[in-house]
Amino acid sequence: MKQFAIFGNPVEHSKSPNMHNNGFKQLNFDAHYIKHHLLNGKEIKEVFLNKGYSGANITVPHKEEAFAQADNVVGVAQKIGAVNTYIKEKDGSVTAYNTDAPGFLKAIESFGKIQNVLILGAGGTAKAIAVALLDAGKKVSVLNRSENKLTFFKELGCNTYSWDNFKPSSYDLVVNSTSAGLKDEYYPVEKTVLEAVLNKSKFAFDCIYGKLTPFLSLAKELGLEYKDGEDMLLYQGVLAFEYFTNSKCSDEIIEAMREGLKK
Ligand code: NDP
Repeated sequence: MKQFAIFGNPVEHSKSPNMHNNGFKQLNFDAHYIKHHLLNGKEIKEVFLNKGYSGANITVPHKEEAFAQADNVVGVAQKIGAVNTYIKEKDGSVTAYNTDAPGFLKAIESFGKIQNVLILGAGGTAKAIAVALLDAGKKVSVLNRSENKLTFFKELGCNTYSWDNFKPSSYDLVVNSTSAGLKDEYYPVEKTVLEAVLNKSKFAFDCIYGKLTPFLSLAKELGLEYKDGEDMLLYQGVLAFEYFTNSKCSDEIIEAMREGLKK
């Protein structure tokens, strides 16, 4: 039986084992997926290989270290500088991918045509989203509380703003990629500013899943079409699952994985 794992610190809250194990069962794929609490990211490749895992996902705070240690980094992950998926190759080398970025693009497909996006926040998730959107030919602006995280985005070709120099404008889509609203009731930017932006925009997406954050709640109140981060989590998982099993996910498998998230 093949073994898979999610590395993180903390990792207890992760729904990935439920999601992937449901998918394996639906596919009749002889594998099991567990949580692996990893304290020291510097050991990630060594632990991955020593434990005999066939593949793994990587979550906070190890994505950059996992990128640095992989033998081969494929696709958009090279620009992002962070990976969330490891695959052990037959020759014992480790290939790494970032499925957060394409997972996000898949999650926003339901909004239809989008050209002009404002990302709130400038952390690891914002990097993946910005690279994905730019590669897909969209115009990307980034607004963050602090100025010092904006350099990466400036160099990438985004319009960048801190709270000090931002003027509300019109966007097709506004994305909350900050952790404001995750464990508190904060808005990702001052409420009056957010209200002015959302009033001129069409869609709102929150990377946080499983709750109506203050950001989504305001979007709802102002009549925007909105969604939380469940589909982003699902589709980064679906894409990783396809690498794990070397097969394309059917609709039945995707639905089984979604059910796993609800457990
Ligand atoms: P990081 O810690 O890398 O970045 C956090 C960002 O949030 C920073 O830009 C920070 O701003 C900003 N921020 C934090 N608190 C506040 C606040 N109170 N007001 C305004 N800005 C704030 O986090 P990640 O990028 O890894 O994750 C961000 C969010 O995305 C999390 O909520 C996480 O749960 C979610 N997520 C969802 C996924 C999914 O699949 N649905 C996948 C990955 C993440 P500053 O620079 O000023 O500190």
